[in-house]
Amino acid sequence: MDKYETHPYDVIVIGAGGAGLRAAIEAKSQGASVGLICKSLLGKAHTVMAEGGIAAAMANIDPSDDWKTHCADTLRGGVYVNNWRMAQLHAQEAPERVRELEQWGALFDRTADGRILQRAFGGHKYRRLVHVGDRTGLELIRTLQERTVQLGVDVYMECTVTNLFKEDGRFAGALAYWRESGRLMIFQAKAAVIATGGSGKAYKITSNSWEYAGNGHAMVYDIGAELMDMEFVQFHPTGMVWPPGVRGLLVTESVRGDGGLLKNNKGERFMFKHIPERYKGQISDTEAEAEKWLTEIREARPITARKPPELLPRDIVARAIYNEVKEGRGSEHDGVYLDISHMPAEYVKRKLPSMYMQFKELADVDITKQAMEIGPTMHYMMGGIRVNADSQATNVPGLYAAGECAAGLHGANRLGGNSLSDLIVFGRRAGLYAAEYGKKTPEAKIPDAAVDRAEKELFAPFDRKSGPSPYEVHRELQEVMTTYVGIFRSESDLNTGIQKLQQLREKAKTISVEGNRQYNPGWHLAKDLDTMITVSEVIARGALLRKESRGGHARTDFPKMEDAFSKVNFVAVKDGDKPKVEPKPLPEWSDEIKKLMAEEKK
Ligand SMILES: Cc1cc2nc3c(=O)[nH]c(=O)nc-3n(C[C@H](O)[C@H](O)[C@H](O)COP(=O)(O)OP(=O)(O)OC[C@H]3O[C@@H](n4cnc5c(N)ncnc54)[C@H](O)[C@@H]3O)c2cc1C
Repeated sequence: MDKYETHPYDVIVIGAGGAGLRAAIEAKSQGASVGLICKSLLGKAHTVMAEGGIAAAMANIDPSDDWKTHCADTLRGGVYVNNWRMAQLHAQEAPERVRELEQWGALFDRTADGRILQRAFGGHKYRRLVHVGDRTGLELIRTLQERTVQLGVDVYMECTVTNLFKEDGRFAGALAYWRESGRLMIFQAKAAVIATGGSGKAYKITSNSWEYAGNGHAMVYDIGAELMDMEFVQFHPTGMVWPPGVRGLLVTESVRGDGGLLKNNKGERFMFKHIPERYKGQISDTEAEAEKWLTEIREARPITARKPPELLPRDIVARAIYNEVKEGRGSEHDGVYLDISHMPAEYVKRKLPSMYMQFKELADVDITKQAMEIGPTMHYMMGGIRVNADSQATNVPGLYAAGECAAGLHGANRLGGNSLSDLIVFGRRAGLYAAEYGKKTPEAKIPDAAVDRAEKELFAPFDRKSGPSPYEVHRELQEVMTTYVGIFRSESDLNTGIQKLQQLREKAKTISVEGNRQYNPGWHLAKDLDTMITVSEVIARGALLRKESRGGHARTDFPKMEDAFSKVNFVAVKDGDKPKVEPKPLPEWSDEIKKLMAEEKK
């Protein structure tokens, strides 16, 4: 162990997106020594890409909004398999976390009388998303980053954590390498907050950044932590479909929230055909009413009309688009049209500056005059590391998780805006409890043998003189996940997918990488493949067991929701070299939540 650069901390935070930064701020504020580690540059985490806003029931625009309605929207959007306690804490604490951001210097868009402006989004009953045009993630990261630096948190950038270690049944520390030099280092820590985001790079068409390789999920799973609900993968309805080089790039939901219409190649607003039973009564069912809503939005008047069906939750809209294309009513490049050109050009440019630039520069489309072509793109993982609702603790003492890599809040489908609020609410909680644990717990010794084994595995691709390239295996993985574990699934496809993933796991063990350790992206990818394949197999196995369709999980052979599955989460643990996935009962709703949901149904 002496041969490694070693850093001791009460708490390490792995990941410097919204969740990691907020956790680090809290842990440091509680008096713990904190090391924050991220594989990109500080300020460049995936969170920076977030566009539409942060969901928080501040009631600035719609005075009837409150935490109860936000909580009910989250549970309904998650098709009732969310952890109710997380949904409650999230809705209750989000407004305070937003106000805190403002105190730390965040500059949100404003109402005419100076309050924080809020916009409409899919699945939210009221205008709830706090935003900065369509660049909210940038402001969130900027604010949290400044606070982190101000507090004196030690930051390790361009540093990838590859393994976590356990001793005496509890977390003991981590192995990492500097991306630039390939040199190894050890973090001797008493507690860790995992905040590493999702695993979208396992799919061919995705809105996710290169960082999303399931590292955190696979590392905690490797030392006995549980993963939950991994079958729930969100396909966002609106990704770019053309030109091919930018396929999958996100087109924010704000386009629809600010008045964008979805149309097929017959000019039909097809979403009116796709309003599910549980949303009937809440959504406009005529174009006339939807038009009234649009006028009220355009003129910033109080809303009296029900929302248009374009603003149904993402899972519903994504599947509707998929079916329009499959049935021959798609656009030129196998998408559908998203049109906001009926709104004033000045309004579009002010509300959606990034979208205006994105289409102008990448697709030569002026969205103030022309419709966009869009289609579903893999966007978000509702499933993740299983945590305690209050503390974000995993089942491994000393190990905490927050943000997209954690599970529970969003159930089967996440509502737009609920991720950024998730990051600040549960990032803070994870930091708080990790600090409490880290400050009072003695150091655990990292086992030498485990470090030696990890080092050997890490450098093995350099020792092989021949073998497939990591890029080839990555392409195959993306093909398998998109074809067999995609937006629609079936038993035979999933079985084929699992078989192919197992073959890929074997193939990945033979990968050979050229060159040396210094900034070698092929070698970085070789390690990421290991974690992506692990996460992908857990997704596929969960999907096979959930014999129903719910939220982000749609089975062609079981197209309906089934009662038997409404009361369970699927939980995966490592069992030898395979995941063991089993149903576990969902925590029962408290009396308060039962009452709330009964009232909401009226
Ligand atoms: C284009 C786009 C727009 C979006 N818009 C919105 C929106 O408007 N509202 C909303 O609520 N949500 C939105 N989302 C979703 C939201 O942005 C993400 O879910 C959220 O930012 C995830 O934050 P995080 O802190 O969990 O992870 P991230 O921000 O992804 O951070 C992960 C961190 O982990 C680090 N990391 C990963 N692996 C390792 C490792 N092995 N070692 C060290 N570091 C590691 C990364 O370097 C990074 O710092 C959007 C997503 C996309 C793609």
